[in-house]
Amino acid sequence: MHLSTKLIHGGISEDPLTGAVSVPIYQTSTYRQKKLGQPGEFEYSRSGNPTRLALEELIAELEGGVKGFAFGSGIAAIHTILSLFQPGDHLILGDDVYGGTFRLLEKVFKPLGLSYTMVDSRELSQLEGALTDHTKALYLESPSNPLLKIIDLEKSAAWAKEHDLITIVDNTFATPYLQQPLALGADIVVHSGTKYLGGHSDLVAGLATTNNQGLAERIGFYQNSVGGVLGPQDSWLLQRGIKTLAVRMDAHQKNAEIIANFLVNHSAVAKVYYPGLTDHPGHEIAAKQMCGFGGMVAFELVDESKVANFVESLEVITLAESLGGVESLIEVPAVMTHASIPKEKREISGIRDGLIRLSVGIEDITDLQDDLERAFSVLNEER
Ligand SMILES: *Cc1c(COP(=O)(O)O)cnc(C)c1O
Repeated sequence: MHLSTKLIHGGISEDPLTGAVSVPIYQTSTYRQKKLGQPGEFEYSRSGNPTRLALEELIAELEGGVKGFAFGSGIAAIHTILSLFQPGDHLILGDDVYGGTFRLLEKVFKPLGLSYTMVDSRELSQLEGALTDHTKALYLESPSNPLLKIIDLEKSAAWAKEHDLITIVDNTFATPYLQQPLALGADIVVHSGTKYLGGHSDLVAGLATTNNQGLAERIGFYQNSVGGVLGPQDSWLLQRGIKTLAVRMDAHQKNAEIIANFLVNHSAVAKVYYPGLTDHPGHEIAAKQMCGFGGMVAFELVDESKVANFVESLEVITLAESLGGVESLIEVPAVMTHASIPKEKREISGIRDGLIRLSVGIEDITDLQDDLERAFSVLNEER
């Protein structure tokens, strides 16, 4: 089966009991046990729920994992994965990981004894330099957020394997439709289902999967013990969203490519970050490891002081956090999604105060271009 077919028919795509082509929302916390001490497949909905299981089997199949796990948010998924580590363990991670991931490590796991080093994970020499006797894992995002840096996942995972490290990849930006990290050598994939997988900005969810049976058992243990599971209603909604991922992603990419080129040619724009541009430093690696360049574009204005005016002048494109929905969303990472990273750290990794991140939606491209053009002209008027 091709991936776009798996999106629709993968995992458990219909109800085994009735044949319903949409898996029902099993809104139940518990299940009748016919014999004492011999529960059936489902016992209690934190440990397992048929609607959630359908989604979990789906993400496992899409990413090539042995088992999938659904959580109440992307961060809850990442929290559970980080629970695999012990006090004293050390992690290496990319220097522009999602702001909430950084906050979770710095404010929650560091006080519990986990340490980490953030490096420019595009450079093997930097990974090498960060390695300690206690390093247990390499945590990567590619394309990264918000600068869309591309990391060679195959090369990094091979390096990690040599040093007995677990490679964890946050695949939120690419989705399994464009990139499959487990096939490139990663051990664990995490997702914010809130973004492209859900696709309609109407739910918060997280997913994880692994192709290692031992890791799967441990993740399952922590999922049940920590308890941050996704409810049946949202599990259903996320599975529904995933069914249209292929058509949405194709439309996102088509628009993003046009917008990226439009921005490159605009005199008010200083810099454009989009892996599909041939002069993007990661273009070739992206072309090798992804089936497309995605729907995220970042850019800097020539006049940094105009950022607020610009984003506030847009009408079709919405000023909001999050990404990956059918509607175009724009945000300023330094003020919004990445505000929890201290300014000095942000600037070292290239997240300037004037950086703008655009999640290109699937609206008609002329409406998006007109909207951007209008916001640019407002800037000119104010001079
Ligand atoms: C949004 C996001 C997260 C966190 O997911 P939530 O669903 O908001 O908890 C993690 N990683 C990336 C890359 C994200 O964009």
